[in-house]
Amino acid sequence: ATLYGVEQWGKPYFNVSAQGNIIVQPRGSFHDSVDLVEIVKELQDRSLSLPCIIRFDDILEDCLKRLNTAFENAISQYGYGGCYRGVFPVKCNQQRYLLEQLVESGRRWHFGLEAGSKAELLIALSLLDDPDALLICNGYKDRSYIETAILARQLGRNPILVIEQPDEVRRIIEVNHNLDTAPLIGIRAKLSTHSIGRWGSSVGERAKFGLAIPDIIAAVEMLKAADLLGSLCLLHFHIGSQISDIAVLKDALQEAGQIYVQLTELGAPMGYLDVGGGLGIDYDGSRTATAASTNYSLQNYANDVVATIQECCSSHSIQLPTLITESGRAIASHCSVLIFNVLGTGSVPAEIPELTENEPLTVRNLRYTLANITLENLQEIWNDALKFKEDALYAFRLGYLSLEDRAKAEQLTWACAERIASLATYLNPADLPDGLKSLQLSLANTYYANLSIFRSAPDTWAIGQLFPILPIHRLNERPMYLGRFADLTCDSDGKLARFIDKGHVKTLLELHKYKENEPYLIGLFLGGAYQEVMGNFHNLFGTTNSVHIRLGSNGNYHFDNIVKGSTNAETLQAMEHDPDLLIGRLKLASEIAMKKGNITINEAQALINHLKTSLSEITYHLQ
Ligand code: PLP
Repeated sequence: ATLYGVEQWGKPYFNVSAQGNIIVQPRGSFHDSVDLVEIVKELQDRSLSLPCIIRFDDILEDCLKRLNTAFENAISQYGYGGCYRGVFPVKCNQQRYLLEQLVESGRRWHFGLEAGSKAELLIALSLLDDPDALLICNGYKDRSYIETAILARQLGRNPILVIEQPDEVRRIIEVNHNLDTAPLIGIRAKLSTHSIGRWGSSVGERAKFGLAIPDIIAAVEMLKAADLLGSLCLLHFHIGSQISDIAVLKDALQEAGQIYVQLTELGAPMGYLDVGGGLGIDYDGSRTATAASTNYSLQNYANDVVATIQECCSSHSIQLPTLITESGRAIASHCSVLIFNVLGTGSVPAEIPELTENEPLTVRNLRYTLANITLENLQEIWNDALKFKEDALYAFRLGYLSLEDRAKAEQLTWACAERIASLATYLNPADLPDGLKSLQLSLANTYYANLSIFRSAPDTWAIGQLFPILPIHRLNERPMYLGRFADLTCDSDGKLARFIDKGHVKTLLELHKYKENEPYLIGLFLGGAYQEVMGNFHNLFGTTNSVHIRLGSNGNYHFDNIVKGSTNAETLQAMEHDPDLLIGRLKLASEIAMKKGNITINEAQALINHLKTSLSEITYHLQ
């Protein structure tokens, strides 16, 4: 467990049982824990095969509770004379059951939603029936988006149209001209504060969204001229997702606080300050300002937001705003666990070949090298082995070495590599020469995984994001192998080969021996934000099975909202193919082949049956 850092990144929801299985504590306390391996077994009994996303509704609720409690604590600690009203950005995970659960769980804090497109606006308008919950409208807004948001006010919804582009001001004014209801308007500011890391480019004067200061002034003037300044109630900023360093947030808060104050002085009623998303996740448990972590806690974050805005507004005797966060990652990451199984392993061909008579010199040299490896000569003898392997290749190219002898030379070289690498583990890693460090890498095993990373963990490929990835069982057994995962797609990028390492990255993971006919189950944790929706159909692998789990009062749990993954027919249809037409063409081709005597009727039927059956199976179904 320590090896995989569960006690750091997993807190408070994941732990390891005495049996060496990952257990989930959906309410953040060990009193209600469930064994993840048991859950997988029960799902398989219900024909829900792997890979599968398991969503813990109680974790989602607990994350919401922690966020709201952190702000409540900060508000009471600083005596802040305003309140907190969070919203969840729908783009983070648009899954129906997750959003329905979130709105339900968030009701007691009047938790709202943030929409970034017309489709997301529709979801938010239909789900958010609490008149005290906020609906923040971001994204590109055409006339119909604007009109929808304004008209929805008559249904008791509170959509706030956040101006992100200068020309949206004019559109809002024009659309509003023909309506009786006044809009609720916000402005997104482009701050000069730069975040760091992957998402840092979401801010700064050249950022894609938000108004620069001169544009804000122009917007205020236009609104005033249109008699709409009274509708300007919110200032928004977002300095990028996964803020790893709290210092960056403090700068942004100070800058935004001043803009807020100035807007009130320009005559806008204001009332809301929306600090956007960015609240980070400690993916590797290191509590550092590195990309996969944060150097602050949730409480630090809430305290900084509350204290900085209070200081800024109080010193100008301005009424304190209702504080809004648009945290997505921090709410949705923990609740979802992706479990996949290993299908087999591939390793280097290092068996020592049998000795035969009259072996060529290069092969004999390699046998001699293998027999003479000692702790003292590791680098030197590895150089010898490489030289003899090169000799063998050269001899092969010139036609002096048979295919069998070349195979022996390769096996013996790998055997040398394995022996050298295993002796090298007795040396201090810092003393290892570079040549030997890379040896371990080239000897690593490939674990073939039943998943598509393009579908289920796209950020690992697209932006090199790290997630905790580890076996969910056998954690009492010392893992004796180093490996990486290769997925089902025919793409060399389809791999998981970067793993968390307490503030660093490692390219190989400690893994157990894969045993034929015994499941080896791997979990990818903290992937509930962005992964599902960004996933794509590469090689036509579709969505995985998914299920929600809810804890009962007596520690029992039940499955809810079981959703089967996409079938092959569905992924084909997603690309406009007609599965019946495809099968029809092959039936015709079989008829022609039968007439020519190239295929028997039984063979043709078997072929068509295989194809037909696979259409109704999910894309990860393997026999
Ligand atoms: N709000 C806006 C405007 C965003 O662009 C994003 C995502 O980057 C978020 C909120 C959510 O950010 P996070 O998931 O980091 O909380």
